[in-house]
Amino acid sequence: MKLEQTGISLQNFLNESPCNFIATQTISKHLESAGFKQLHQKDNWDVKPGDKVYFTKNDSSIFAIKVGKGNISDNGFRIITAHSDSPCFRIKPNPEITTEGGIVKLNTEVYGGPILYTWFDRPLSVAGRVLLRGKSALAPETKFVNIHRPILIIPHLPIHFNRAVNEGNPLSKQKDMLPVLGLITEEAERGNMLINLLCSHLNVDKSEIIDFDLLLYPTAGAALVGAHNEFICSARIDDLSMAHAAMIAMIESNDDNQATLVMGIFDNEETGSGTKQGAASPVLANILRRISYSLNATESQFIQATANSFMISADNGHAFHPNYAEKFDPTNHPVQGGGPIIKMNANCKYMTDAKSAAVFAEICNKANVPVQYFVNHSDVAGGSTLGNIFTGQMEIEGVDVGNPIWAMHSCCETGTVIDQYYMISAFSSFYNL
Ligand code: ZN
Repeated sequence: MKLEQTGISLQNFLNESPCNFIATQTISKHLESAGFKQLHQKDNWDVKPGDKVYFTKNDSSIFAIKVGKGNISDNGFRIITAHSDSPCFRIKPNPEITTEGGIVKLNTEVYGGPILYTWFDRPLSVAGRVLLRGKSALAPETKFVNIHRPILIIPHLPIHFNRAVNEGNPLSKQKDMLPVLGLITEEAERGNMLINLLCSHLNVDKSEIIDFDLLLYPTAGAALVGAHNEFICSARIDDLSMAHAAMIAMIESNDDNQATLVMGIFDNEETGSGTKQGAASPVLANILRRISYSLNATESQFIQATANSFMISADNGHAFHPNYAEKFDPTNHPVQGGGPIIKMNANCKYMTDAKSAAVFAEICNKANVPVQYFVNHSDVAGGSTLGNIFTGQMEIEGVDVGNPIWAMHSCCETGTVIDQYYMISAFSSFYNL
């Protein structure tokens, strides 16, 4: 992808992907139009060299594979992973609370670790999936939903009632963070406001809705910011920017590679990856195993293939913040626009070691992409990500990387267009090695 297209492409992708479920839908559509065919877990798989396939799990994680033309055991897999989920709010069952004055607010639960106060006083909407009564109890019908228009707001208390608000303001997730949905105008709306909205949006009857996974998102959308439009500001840059980069690199990759190219966008990284669609599950290892078997490889040859494989685990990292220099490592603080970050940690929170870092640095070098290193300031704890969790399922060599961003887990994070371009170039170079 050209630099001129990168900002708008990422902006559109973020706006079309307000939550994990809809991000999975967005990626499916892009893959379908690039000729990838969907595989289902319950079917028999007959995959051939050169095939382009994808697979979804729980409607919220997605995996794409371009089967290599070479022998699988000798050429192995080139894997790029990222995650589809971002910290936000999830609507609880029986969510409506009617207060004095006919005000309806929704009972929500925090998903992952958002910076809570960034969610105040912003128009919000709802997206996710709704489960409708199906042919059997075991097979409810899924409908994806994105209300698009702003329907919710979490109003802040006025400063006049909390003069100390700017000196630090502890927040209760249960009391302070509940969004307002509307004012009741008819008695029939009591307890039904959200369901009525869903029914009219999906064109279904209330009696058909059995359950839902609904998440809140800010409707403002992604914006290019800065004197030269160098920044991109949006919710969910962590980690949809990496999902976008992996998807573009996969779609644009050569069709005659010897190695099998793999993109894995897992769900639930923000809650520890421990679900059936998360990186700690066998979902991706099983997909790769089934593809190998379909190509007539034995289990031993599949393990041989993993030894000839490499994985790039891509999740955003922290850019040097001009107001908080003291929070960063004195010699390794990646800057905005300085290229992809290789993440390292002495206590092995990342899968990176000197060898895998060297591999990634060479991949970047080949693509004329600069590379930076992130290690924590030794008095700051820091986070973890997908790489090491996945190695519990498949013994594979790999590296944890990401782009530098500000305000990780804010509902408006900031990265740069040039770093997105660099990462797409690095991923393309990796796939086409
Ligand atoms: Zn992340």
